[in-house]
Amino acid sequence: MATRLAALRERIAAAARQAGRSPEEITLVAVSKTVPAERIAAAIAAGQLTFGENRVQEAARKFPALRRTAPGLKLHLVGALQTNKTREAVRLFDVIESLDRPRLADALAAAADKEGRLPRLYVEVNLGDEPQKSGIPRAEADAFIEACRARFGEALVGVMGIPPVGVDPRPHFAWLAACARRHGLPVISMGMSEDFEAAIAVGATEIRLGRALFGERPAALRLPSRPETD
Ligand SMILES: *Cc1c(COP(=O)(O)O)cnc(C)c1O
Repeated sequence: MATRLAALRERIAAAARQAGRSPEEITLVAVSKTVPAERIAAAIAAGQLTFGENRVQEAARKFPALRRTAPGLKLHLVGALQTNKTREAVRLFDVIESLDRPRLADALAAAADKEGRLPRLYVEVNLGDEPQKSGIPRAEADAFIEACRARFGEALVGVMGIPPVGVDPRPHFAWLAACARRHGLPVISMGMSEDFEAAIAVGATEIRLGRALFGERPAALRLPSRPETD
């Protein structure tokens, strides 16, 4: 695991340098969905402290114990969030990257009130306006970001997006980066195992890598799927 992580960090640094950027500008979120806790523990031992999960229940099973071994650990929710799981999500995650609809904003505000805790938030944009994917449609993104900023203030720090499969991701990444800049949001979460170098070239400040670090997942879980939302 230490060797894999070092090699991956070197690829990230090379992509950053290639783009005239500093490797320190880019946060690696290790996406550990389907990965057993022992392998996550090995990544922690190798120095990786930021992780992403796409399901609340799975994160709730694995991470409380891991956190006790690594106080600096940061946990991001990168998958769609159902409103009936917002309280648990607010308790569990440091960052919620999938804020993508007004109803979820309402639920998160209520949950934060009850829990006395508000994670950092990114607005997720459906970059290809694909019906099967989560994310606010592009055309509604500006208004939604403004509404979230008014409601959540400094807790809203970024945007997240996944380009459609099988097309050049760069125009999609460029659109998301421009959107973040337009709103003065410092965090741009884009790029996965297949396309993170392109994302870094266009300005990603955070890349979310699963397979590039942990290896292939079981086939049915390979693509980022959309859990049921409401
Ligand atoms: C699974 C997932 C990733 C990581 O995908 P890889 O192809 O394994 O790097 C990143 N972001 C989201 C939202 C995911 O669901």
